[in-house]
Amino acid sequence: MAGVNKCDFCGKKESEASLMVTGVNGRICNSCIEGAHEIWQKENIFKKSKASDDRELKLLKPKAFKEHLDQYVIGQAKAKKVLSVAVYNHYKRLMQDVSQDGTEIEKSNILLVGSTGTGKTLLAKTLAKILDVPFCVADATLITEAGYVGEDVETILTHLLRAADFNVEAAQKGIIYIDEIDKIARKSDNPSITRDVSGEGVQQALLKLLEGSIVNVPPEGGRKHPEQKMIAVDTKNILFVCGGAFNGIEKDISKRLNTQTLGFSKLEEKEIKEENMLVYVNAQDIRKFGLIPELIGRLPVLVHLNPLDADALKRILTEPKNSIIKQYSKLFAMEGIELTFDESALDFVVEKAMEFELGARGLRSICEAIILNAMYELPSQDKVKKFVVDRAYAEKEFSTSGEFVKLQKVG
Ligand code: ADP
Repeated sequence: MAGVNKCDFCGKKESEASLMVTGVNGRICNSCIEGAHEIWQKENIFKKSKASDDRELKLLKPKAFKEHLDQYVIGQAKAKKVLSVAVYNHYKRLMQDVSQDGTEIEKSNILLVGSTGTGKTLLAKTLAKILDVPFCVADATLITEAGYVGEDVETILTHLLRAADFNVEAAQKGIIYIDEIDKIARKSDNPSITRDVSGEGVQQALLKLLEGSIVNVPPEGGRKHPEQKMIAVDTKNILFVCGGAFNGIEKDISKRLNTQTLGFSKLEEKEIKEENMLVYVNAQDIRKFGLIPELIGRLPVLVHLNPLDADALKRILTEPKNSIIKQYSKLFAMEGIELTFDESALDFVVEKAMEFELGARGLRSICEAIILNAMYELPSQDKVKKFVVDRAYAEKEFSTSGEFVKLQKVG
């Protein structure tokens, strides 16, 4: 039909399209533009994936590394020391020349054991930040064995690729933090009694990544489907940090220690107290908890994190480079207001965080509840140049915020 403008790609009439772009030699409708854009994006990902990564690794000596960690993570001295050494060795391993003497330094993936909000994720994130390598967090509970509903284990690598802007070479030097590793524990200590699909199957799937293998990764994540183009990622040099609270493991540690000391009456006398049992955690306890030996074998660096006491929580509020209070102060300074949380207000925040047993996790929501009204009102009040939050103000704001009820439910 003469006179009707049609898309030269799909033949759609102009009246049926929401947009028709006319060029020198033809026309294209909005659907075809979108389709072409998608193809271009995918091709671009593959182009990026082949680029080389010429950034130099910022590898610091273990001591200097720990000093950097100190700027972001409060307390946890032992964990920081162990991690500094492990990371140093891991990246030195990347530079090894096996051909010279045949000695191959093995990879030291890390397992962090400590209750929620003690800084496990923060530690892993900070390692990556200091090294300036791609980093991602994956939740072990979202991964399922192939063939079940949920995320394939390869999706973890999709996240890392995204963090590396699809540069495979960069991603292959990255760090992956796998959270809640304890939640995929086998429910029974004896594998022959129950076949525990959700736990053991996922552990097996993870093993493949941790061991170091070439994995075909769907660049857009989700389930693999035959027509999707894959990007091959070698996990050999990726550093895996796994973390979990391992609730209840203290009982097993205590049982093990106290049976070990049985018979030595002197040792029995100073029976090891349960409150700080995590200090003694070893691979045997982790195995008893339900991680399979193959996986534990791939996580040779095992380190515990201490529960945070009131003093540590108070320091977390003010000391780290980007502490919560520093962030609020900056926000207020941008309005020309000098903000101060006095000691009594900080103590109040810490008391509440301890009460709800959320570790450092509760600090932000408690502060948010206290500061919300001030952040709402003060930007419209030109005359205010200083604002001091004291205990009385903090108590009043917190008790009327509703956060109290919310936190109680979580806790
Ligand atoms: P976990 O992974 O152990 O559950 P996170 O690392 O996610 O805990 O910590 C939650 C929040 O609490 C982080 O955003 C961080 O700001 C703060 N935090 C936790 N532990 C520490 C610590 N030791 N030093 C400084 N901040 C901490």
